[in-house]
Amino acid sequence: MSRPASPPKPDSPDKRLDRIRVVLSRPRHPGNIGAAARAVKTMGLSRLALVAPENFPHPKAFARSAGAEDILDGVEIFTSLDEALNGAIFTLAISARCRNLGPEALTANDAADEAISIAESGDVALVFGNETSGLSNEDARRCQRIVHIPANPDYSSLNLGAAVQVLCYELRCTAFRNIPKGEEKAKTAASLIAPDEDIERFYAHLESVMTMTGFLDPARPGRLMPKLRRLFSRVRVERDEINILRGILDAVEKKIGR
Ligand code: SAH
Repeated sequence: MSRPASPPKPDSPDKRLDRIRVVLSRPRHPGNIGAAARAVKTMGLSRLALVAPENFPHPKAFARSAGAEDILDGVEIFTSLDEALNGAIFTLAISARCRNLGPEALTANDAADEAISIAESGDVALVFGNETSGLSNEDARRCQRIVHIPANPDYSSLNLGAAVQVLCYELRCTAFRNIPKGEEKAKTAASLIAPDEDIERFYAHLESVMTMTGFLDPARPGRLMPKLRRLFSRVRVERDEINILRGILDAVEKKIGR
């Protein structure tokens, strides 16, 4: 009789860190891009993406990267946050500000726990705001969780490069702490969790059907969409589940004759 196959081994900490991308949204100072590259590399991550940087490439970025030129050479540049999040199954907005409506807030430490466990199954993105205005509400709501670095309440805003360093450090500590060597654990199939772009298409579909039925008045949308986003971002929605939800919306559309 053949033996039952043993469950797949969990991925190594390094492999998980490789699946985590740091995204800087509209960074202004090239020096901070260099500092972020250095933070990424010192903590064993490898992926840095920029959305509409004001000044890049720039010699100051290379000077501040202090030897992390390979990260800067491999930087991906996008014109929109949507593109930068493509393919990610878990998206985190790193923000100094408390927001009264938006995704649930986590501390950097708790966020690292979730990110490292989800990185077993697919890509994770951490989105940082720019030096002057931080993350826009729109960018923050676009993500599944808000993350705060607990700081002095009277002086809580860190330099952008320093904030990237803190998050990358937490990720590294968690990655190497939580996976005992040789431990065998069933692996969640990466293909199960719906990627960011599928979830965005679902939100757009939901909004359009709610508008058609009259449930949502586009002239007075209130907080309906942010609240629904908050609801769905609390769970890791799987591809099959998104397909069911899209199917229900299709059926409603058919019934009302669109
Ligand atoms: N004036 C801005 C702060 C910008 S600091 C504001 O009011 O939001 C640049 C970026 O660093 C922020 O957008 C955020 O991504 C990160 N950051 C700085 N301090 C932070 C903190 N205490 N918690 C989480 N992120 C922080």
